[in-house]
Amino acid sequence: MKISKKKRAELIKKINERLIEHFGIPPRKEERADPLDALIGTILSQNTNDRNSWRAYLNLKENFSSWDEVAELEAPEIEEHIRIAGLGNQKANAIKEALNDIVSKKGNADLNYIRDLTDDEIIAELTKYKGVGLKTTSCVLLFSLDRNICPVDTHVHRTMNRTGAVKTSAPDKTFHEIRPLIPEGQAHTFHTNLILLGREFCKPQKPDCPNCPLLDLCGFKEKTREGEKRYNHNNFLLLDRL
Ligand code: SF4
Repeated sequence: MKISKKKRAELIKKINERLIEHFGIPPRKEERADPLDALIGTILSQNTNDRNSWRAYLNLKENFSSWDEVAELEAPEIEEHIRIAGLGNQKANAIKEALNDIVSKKGNADLNYIRDLTDDEIIAELTKYKGVGLKTTSCVLLFSLDRNICPVDTHVHRTMNRTGAVKTSAPDKTFHEIRPLIPEGQAHTFHTNLILLGREFCKPQKPDCPNCPLLDLCGFKEKTREGEKRYNHNNFLLLDRL
């Protein structure tokens, strides 16, 4: 059953507080990523793990002195450097298209002009690129520009649905439902802690409900009595490294 917006806001607030009690406030570097670093890092992170996308990102950063240099490459040359992140052809084309467009609009490969735009204007601007969707754009908004936007990946989508905060069929729908309800200044903490929850407790198969910090708040009808206690502590998050 769908819950009211007021109840959803209360549940999200409680979930955030409970996850902070359990996982703490995730550390962040003082300096935020450059917007173009964040865009390219997020494109590389699609459908792969953070360690492989981090290596692909470093391959570009270490082999080229600037994104302008990368913009001069053909897509197959970009692909050679990012293969480890998987979907090399698709990701190389997405990077190439974005770089071409930025260079043709601004004269060089610099995305800093988006700092002056609103969240919605940035979403409209970046989602025009093939291979750049709402999740990738919201990662740029959060990790680079520090906007109070919670990107919805598979972990956030699954945990928000299982807890009953939303009832949606796709991550983009979850994004729109929770977007106005994220407590001010909490998007990074909420997003990161939901990923940790999804990796450690609320796994796709056999969630470890008995040990989950959200057990009493969660409305999932198929809670397990004995979850698979395979604590997979993994707090490597690519976008906090850029
Ligand atoms: S109680 Fe179970 S289903 Fe609910 S959030 Fe925790 S692990 Fe996921």
